[in-house]
Amino acid sequence: MGKIPQRMCIACRQMKDKRELVRCRVTPDGKVEVDPTGKKSGRGAYICRNAECVAKARKYNMLAKALNAEVGDELYDELENNG
Ligand SMILES: [Zn+2]
Repeated sequence: MGKIPQRMCIACRQMKDKRELVRCRVTPDGKVEVDPTGKKSGRGAYICRNAECVAKARKYNMLAKALNAEVGDELYDELENNG
């Protein structure tokens, strides 16, 4: 039985299978982007692929706090579309 790595969603703070989450990462120039592969280098944070968590993170700017970087509305739009 293969063990699926678990990560914590920054919005609901529950541990989930990595594949149920989307990774966002800080690029070398300090921007935040969605990392669909989950494999790019840089500081990363995970969020559930569901509208509630994306809406909550947007409302409280949780990704920016988790990554200590600026996060624009476009990123949240992208996450909503990825969900
Ligand atoms: Zn969540």
